[in-house]
Amino acid sequence: MISLLRPLACILLLAPSLLPAADSQRFVLERPHQVTEIPEPDRNIPVTSVILMIGDGMGLHHLSAAWTANRGHLFMENCPVTGIAKTWCADKLVTDSAAAGTAMATGTKTLYKRVAVCPQGSKLDSLVDKAAGMGKSTGVIVTCELNDATPASFCANNKNRSDSYGIIGDYPHSRADFIFGGGGKYFTQRPDGRDMFREMAAQGYHVARSWEDAAALPPGKTLIVAAPGNLPPPSARGDVLRQATLKGLENLSRNPNGFFLMVEGSNIDKAAHRNKLEEMMEELLDFDRTAGAVLDWASRHPGTLVVITADHNTGAFALTGGDREKGEITAQFGSGNHDGVMVPVYAFGAGSGAFTGIYENTDIFRKIMEAMEKGTSQPAPAHRGS
Ligand SMILES: [Zn+2]
Repeated sequence: MISLLRPLACILLLAPSLLPAADSQRFVLERPHQVTEIPEPDRNIPVTSVILMIGDGMGLHHLSAAWTANRGHLFMENCPVTGIAKTWCADKLVTDSAAAGTAMATGTKTLYKRVAVCPQGSKLDSLVDKAAGMGKSTGVIVTCELNDATPASFCANNKNRSDSYGIIGDYPHSRADFIFGGGGKYFTQRPDGRDMFREMAAQGYHVARSWEDAAALPPGKTLIVAAPGNLPPPSARGDVLRQATLKGLENLSRNPNGFFLMVEGSNIDKAAHRNKLEEMMEELLDFDRTAGAVLDWASRHPGTLVVITADHNTGAFALTGGDREKGEITAQFGSGNHDGVMVPVYAFGAGSGAFTGIYENTDIFRKIMEAMEKGTSQPAPAHRGS
């Protein structure tokens, strides 16, 4: 018996590539979405409006997996400008979504878990505050709870991202005009007794507590809380992220001074944390369809800058094989956490040229600010179409 096992052990030791990966997963996309070519409008005209899209946890392997599953096509590939952003935060190499969101929202590298608060403890203004200060309309659209780290970095200030009630308590004073997301359970039955839906209405928001109810809302300041917690996966929630984004664009673009809108595919990260490949792929492809709607809108509205990026990479995810023609992937997760690799940045439209190169995640804030400041000092271009 020993004489039989010894050669086998030697083969396994000498040729580790023959060993099957223990946690390799397979996914086949049955129904790919049709991807069209979207022409970039003039890049060199003043920026009136900015749409920042964040795929939470979406690294290059995630994007490559989505590209393979969708038969070698993604809407995001219509972006002619690419860059790479470094995601480290002030006290750790591997950031969380709070410090990474704060970096992009405020231009400051801060400590793990902080939302729009600097390492010394002061509150920071976000791109929502800055754009509102320039007379622009502003919006935040996410598929997670509104108290989650990314939307909180744009709409609240807190030393602790886990202070869900405290973060939702900041929303009436946020300068976001169009808000869509989940987390309804933190708006009522709160330990402090506040009714946040009532407070938001008192601040002039039209409030809907479901996506269905949102159809009846008049134009103007809008709060849509579409779920008690995070929104369910796309297979259960439907085309809501894309539709909410189009509703937000219609609403915000009424302002002749333009707008700033942040759209997040929030649950790519959450599925990756749990190593749920199928759910993660669903979220990635849903985010790409939403990117398609955003790029199409921007293509018809010169003066709009679209930036698509991630806050960090999640799951040490690796695309290890597959078949582009069959829409099949094999992949592995190496962890249930974030990791420290740089993330891609894609840009499209007015001012997109500034996003080429290798830079810090805080430079995304700086580049957007420069584009908006330059744009406000020059006349807005005429829009065509709707
Ligand atoms: Zn994140």
